[in-house]
Amino acid sequence: MVAPVIQSNYPARWWQILPDGRLECRACPRLCKLQAGQRGFCFVRQNVDNRMVLTTYGRSSGFCIDPIEKKPLNHFFPGTSVLSFGTAGCNLGCRFCQNWDISKAREFDRLADQASPEAIAAAAQKLGCWSVAFTYNDPVIFAEYAMDVADACREAGIAAVAVTAGYMTEESRPDFYRHMDAANVDLKGFTEEFYHRNCYGELEPVLDTLKYLRQATTVWLEVTTLLIPGENDSDRELGEAADWFVESLGPDVPWHFTAFHPDYKMLDKPRTPPATLTRARGIARMRGLRYVYTGNVHDPDGSSTWCPGCGRRLIERDGYELGDWQLKRNCCANCGFEIAGHFAAEHGHWGNRRLPLHLG
Ligand code: SF4
Repeated sequence: MVAPVIQSNYPARWWQILPDGRLECRACPRLCKLQAGQRGFCFVRQNVDNRMVLTTYGRSSGFCIDPIEKKPLNHFFPGTSVLSFGTAGCNLGCRFCQNWDISKAREFDRLADQASPEAIAAAAQKLGCWSVAFTYNDPVIFAEYAMDVADACREAGIAAVAVTAGYMTEESRPDFYRHMDAANVDLKGFTEEFYHRNCYGELEPVLDTLKYLRQATTVWLEVTTLLIPGENDSDRELGEAADWFVESLGPDVPWHFTAFHPDYKMLDKPRTPPATLTRARGIARMRGLRYVYTGNVHDPDGSSTWCPGCGRRLIERDGYELGDWQLKRNCCANCGFEIAGHFAAEHGHWGNRRLPLHLG
């Protein structure tokens, strides 16, 4: 299917005119105030003729089919494939960004691919993907496009997945998540100081997004924390985060601890030792979390799913490859304990593959 002509100055949501004539964007807590012609911090929302527009609607930095475990989502139709894409720009400024070539892109020539929402849904269906993910950069900044893609996907029986830092406002949150089926939200650290120093952002709105998703929606939620040596990996910080997590989100939300590698503006920190991920996983489990995973390292124990009832291994994972499967639908085949998440009668077989695509 050939994509129709794509409008790039697409009318944006969540903005208002200030008394001094500037436009205030209310998509994220940065609340950028823009004069005519100015772009926001994220670079992709712009004041054009005194209207706020999204400049990247219908444009992508590339499409790829990944395993759903790579998002990472371990309890959302394990083993299935997900059609993934992102655009350009970001509303946070993380010094440790692991995708900075996309998130910091200022040139739209990175946005080589164009595709309408219907074309994306049709491609996902044709290629046997169970879901489409907005990832690589934050969908909050291209929300209008992501929501239209999600709607087209739902029509085709395909789920929509947001991979996001959760840096949103009370206005944008409900509008956006009404269209989503699952989300992986980055909890980048657990102090305001960490967010200020390393992300040019704030922690509180991220916690609000997590609570909103868990308490006010049916969107399937998993959380990821990239552990950076000496920055957010102390026993104390991890313990406090785990206590907040259990109290605010409950024990059933999966939490992924992933390994950092030096990148972008944080080149002075070492790679995360696998032992740090194992320690973090132990702390979270001790505090009552049922499903805690390690990522970006070879750790079959830490990447597999274990039954909180009888302790049996339910889903064996080695990397993104699935092995033994001891689930009957949502329940442990041994003791019947109900496992939180969305599971089909059997797991998918996509495996470790990563398949770049051109949809244009
Ligand atoms: S979405 Fe972009 S333009 Fe809007 S407030 Fe956030 S950074 Fe600024």
